Amino acid sequence: MKTETSTKATIYCRVSSKEQEETGYSLDAQEKLLVDYSKSKGFTVEKIYRISESASSDKQRKIFSEMMGFLKKRGNNILLCEKTDRLTRTRKDAVVIDDWVKENEERCVHFVKENFILDKNSRANEKFIWGIKVEVAQYYTNNLSEEVKKGQKEKIAQGHYPSKPPFGYVTRLEKGKNIHVPDKLTAPHIRRMFELYATGNYSLSRLELEMHNMGLRERSGKRMLFKRIYVILSNPFYCGRMRWKGVLSEGAHEPLISKEIFELTQTILRRKTKNPSRRKHTPVFRAKIHCEHCGGMLTWEIQKGYWYGHCHNHKAFRLCAKKTYIRQEKAEEQILAYLPQIAPKNKEMLAWIEDVIKNDFEEDTRNREIEISRLNILLAKVRQRRDKYYEALVDQTVPEDFCNKKIKECLEEEEALKTALDRTDQQSDLYKELRIAIHRLAFYAGEIYQKATTDDKRILLSQIFTNLLQNGYEIKGKYTLAAEYLAEWMPKLNHDYELEKMLSIQDQKVDFALASPAMRAWKDTLRMPFWQQWFPWPNTSLEKLNQLLALV
Ligand SMILES: [Zn+2]
Repeated sequence: MKTETSTKATIYCRVSSKEQEETGYSLDAQEKLLVDYSKSKGFTVEKIYRISESASSDKQRKIFSEMMGFLKKRGNNILLCEKTDRLTRTRKDAVVIDDWVKENEERCVHFVKENFILDKNSRANEKFIWGIKVEVAQYYTNNLSEEVKKGQKEKIAQGHYPSKPPFGYVTRLEKGKNIHVPDKLTAPHIRRMFELYATGNYSLSRLELEMHNMGLRERSGKRMLFKRIYVILSNPFYCGRMRWKGVLSEGAHEPLISKEIFELTQTILRRKTKNPSRRKHTPVFRAKIHCEHCGGMLTWEIQKGYWYGHCHNHKAFRLCAKKTYIRQEKAEEQILAYLPQIAPKNKEMLAWIEDVIKNDFEEDTRNREIEISRLNILLAKVRQRRDKYYEALVDQTVPEDFCNKKIKECLEEEEALKTALDRTDQQSDLYKELRIAIHRLAFYAGEIYQKATTDDKRILLSQIFTNLLQNGYEIKGKYTLAAEYLAEWMPKLNHDYELEKMLSIQDQKVDFALASPAMRAWKDTLRMPFWQQWFPWPNTSLEKLNQLLALV
């Protein structure tokens, strides 16, 4: 037993929140036990340290080292503690205690409930048990983190990202599981961001500006800076994959963009970061043409004053056999040949088209106004109802729970109505202008291309083609959705026009817009919802089209 030269004792209490919940055993009870014990032994309690498990591990560590400092500074040699595991939260703590005891014969730890005193002269079997307890403590800590890791691994195997999802997604509880789903508010912006960047027309800082103008903001409401945009564009989560601790796997979540767009984005990002210096002369097709053979991007270089493009296959894993050099002008020729296929035949035809769009719009406006006033009446009603419940809440005339429930319902309904209103309102003048502008663009595209600067040429190309492919000396274009629409309808309208010309007898003018079956069928497409899908940001699209049309 100890020689009682010193009777100054320090008490250390720690309780886990789980214990407290399950047994009601509290820090106070532990403290009382230890104070009573020290009285029975004739110790004077110098200081009491209390740690609740709910404290952060940083805080726990801080209190622990504070206590060790106090013991040493005050020459306080007796430490009282309920059980071994109170002091062995980690092996590191246990080793500190072990060292402290060994340094001085006077020092000891009383584990009151276990009736065990640890000091320099503890018996071998007692030290052995202490050692085991330290190991068990460490095992428990290790095992816990292993369990967490195992849980994460299982989640990943099932395609679930085991952490907070990136911007553009929200977490929803479904069947007891947290799943990540696209956030209705921000997901469209993310899609747009990838689409714009994949055109190859944007630097990151220009994209930052463009996205800001479209209303993209951080969750905090702040401007989203290009560094963040870079992080987003590099995250495979958006195309349905997951990167966890450096390993890529397939996710079960809904992607916001296709894998093709993501890969394209990566190619452009790599190219941009590798060569950040701005080149004075840009080849028109930079980042726009792919090798049909291997999918690689064409590289452009100047030879004797001409731009030449060829498949860029420096990567060993997909060496490409096709390395035809194609001159920019040869590529242009072939791409320009696509333009008449989507164009109205002549100015007269274009004028008819514009008339039909304008007339249709007027009819549409009347219907829309009716719909907007209907929605506004509903909105006013639901707001009235909500105010009524607020009043009831203040006056306490109706139970609080019921009021809150009703207010929540009203707010949800308000949100839904506002969305419907926005949607109706959006189909406003802008879409009329857009429809006219896209047909005009199709008609003048060739002329615009000849007059345009390289930058404008690139904008024009991205309005009409999503992708261009090289196969030897042949260049093929894949239309955008809007251009595909033109490619479907314009030949039909042009055909009817020819027919009408042949049939029309002098002095017997017929209204072509009414007489032509193709024209009547085409008119119906003006009200189709796909216009909103093709141009989710009508403002910016229109701005671009007008910028191009200003050239003629
Ligand atoms: Zn290739």
